[in-house]
Amino acid sequence: MKQLLNSKRVLSFMLCMILIISVVGCQSKTSETSEDAMFKAGTYTATALGHNGDIKVEVTVDEMEIKDIKILEHNESPGIADPAIDRIPKAIIDGQTLAVDAISGATITSDAIILAVTEAIKLAGGDIKALSEKKAGENTARETVEYTTDVVVIGGGGAGLAAAVSAHQNGAEVILLEKMPRLGGNTILSGGALNAVDPVRQTKQGIEDSVDKHFTQTYEGGDKVGNTDLIRTFVENAYPAVEWLESLGMKFNDEVFTVLGGLWPRAHKPSTPLGTGFIDTYEAYINANEGVEILLDAEVTELLMSDGRVVGVKANGLNGEIIVHANNGVVIATGGFGANVEMRDQYNKNWPALTQIKTTNHPGATGDGIAMADAVGANLIDLEHIQLLPMGDPKTGSLSGNIEQGVENRIFVNKDGNRFVDEGARRDVMTKALLEQQDAFMWVVLDSHSYPSGDVKNNFNESIDELIAQGRAFKGDTLEELANEIGVDANNLINAVEEFNKTVEKGGTDAFGRTLFADKIDSPPYYAGARVPTVHHTMGGIEINTSAQVLDVNGKIIPGLYAAGEVTGGIHGSNRLGGNALADIAVFGRIAGESAAAKK
Ligand code: ADP
Repeated sequence: MKQLLNSKRVLSFMLCMILIISVVGCQSKTSETSEDAMFKAGTYTATALGHNGDIKVEVTVDEMEIKDIKILEHNESPGIADPAIDRIPKAIIDGQTLAVDAISGATITSDAIILAVTEAIKLAGGDIKALSEKKAGENTARETVEYTTDVVVIGGGGAGLAAAVSAHQNGAEVILLEKMPRLGGNTILSGGALNAVDPVRQTKQGIEDSVDKHFTQTYEGGDKVGNTDLIRTFVENAYPAVEWLESLGMKFNDEVFTVLGGLWPRAHKPSTPLGTGFIDTYEAYINANEGVEILLDAEVTELLMSDGRVVGVKANGLNGEIIVHANNGVVIATGGFGANVEMRDQYNKNWPALTQIKTTNHPGATGDGIAMADAVGANLIDLEHIQLLPMGDPKTGSLSGNIEQGVENRIFVNKDGNRFVDEGARRDVMTKALLEQQDAFMWVVLDSHSYPSGDVKNNFNESIDELIAQGRAFKGDTLEELANEIGVDANNLINAVEEFNKTVEKGGTDAFGRTLFADKIDSPPYYAGARVPTVHHTMGGIEINTSAQVLDVNGKIIPGLYAAGEVTGGIHGSNRLGGNALADIAVFGRIAGESAAAKK
């Protein structure tokens, strides 16, 4: 796998001030030092606070050089922090400098490693000022590199990887360019739920479902804004996409469930945490087969045209410009614009200002593909439809820390301890209701049906005990105790749960219109986790046809250009069903790869 670095400057003053508080260092072994020595030779350890806790490093120096840096302990998120853990120590050693750039998408981890190494070097008597001023690679010449391939894929999230694998399976050589230092996009941060009507699992569970029902719920759940041809293609190919993923080695659990805003129990959950299963599956295929090359840190800036056909891309790499010529076509799979506050504000019509609302998205979700497609005349549709979830972490906006295991077994209460919405409703309905509550804040409340023991994990690979220890979830042996823990009125909470339990017992619809129930909330311990609105998905984007070919403003196909995933519009309408995104990116990523390989 070829990797080209691209990154941001580090050591922001504020961050250093925060991090420095938690830095601890110690020296394990030194020797006598000569007069012109830069360091006291030896091995030193130090720690600094990363994203998920302390990062401990061990730094070995001789009198003149930093010889080795080991990360001894850390709790950073796999996949996301890996590029920082792999590259920062190497960059410090290669450049003999502390002035290395943070890795995009992993800046907190990068900063913490640099800070811990700085502390260790202080213990070694190094001149921190001089080492922090010396820039690595200042004299590196920038050069333009050119490649030629059959299919170019822009973006290494779920849609781009599906397109790359599919194009290769259909006989094409592929180059995929990803602007971040890692693959995975939003898939790797997601809970992994993928909707498909499943003749095997749903039948075993006694769940009635049909492709028509999936179609209707998708179409009507998006207020009939979506394109019926695209939705039909989507629902019909969702289960074949599950089988395709399984044929590539992906494992799903034997039971399906209802994911937040999914409206029906048809969500497949990968057997491995988060969305890692999808990305690992695609990467395993790419590693095992010649003919798919991944360029990381390669930010595509422009589509190259010749005689009205898209024939390649231009990108910025770490060491200069990259041009990739595509014999057959280019697939845009750059995701949405949930992390681009300006774009959100430009297109948002349905929500109050979104400027202050955080996002579940990875930082690369900045709408680049939409702008590039626009520049070559593509038709952009439904951009005003931006999805918010009621499930953001109050501090970060991320999905992590969400304690719900599925829709049926939990309720939401506001700061008064009262329910306020059908918790099985559409995502926009739930989020609008949440925005009307005090401080737009709620608690998810559930019981041991969701966590039979403390080591049971949520959909984000966090155990309930860990979340409690981190102060991100709360526990009570009675509802009164839980109410006291979270500071809501105990009578209200008890009443809310009792009313909920009555409907579970008698069945039917409750006062909020809720119809999805399984167990009563009656089995201690009881748990609660705080949640706020967060920007999650942008439904609009590039218009495509059912072959994932990009259409121009006159409805004509732009030759050589294909798109898939969140960068496209037309499938989810005004509101996306939970669990439909991972299905969409597998279905249309696969189709886009096939179409591009065939030069359709
Ligand atoms: P999807 O779910 O449709 O796959 P994601 O947002 O998960 O969308 O993934 C999109 C990927 O595309 C991300 O990994 C993102 O970093 C990458 N990307 C976005 N813009 C560019 C660009 N200009 N050049 C290369 N990669 C990009």
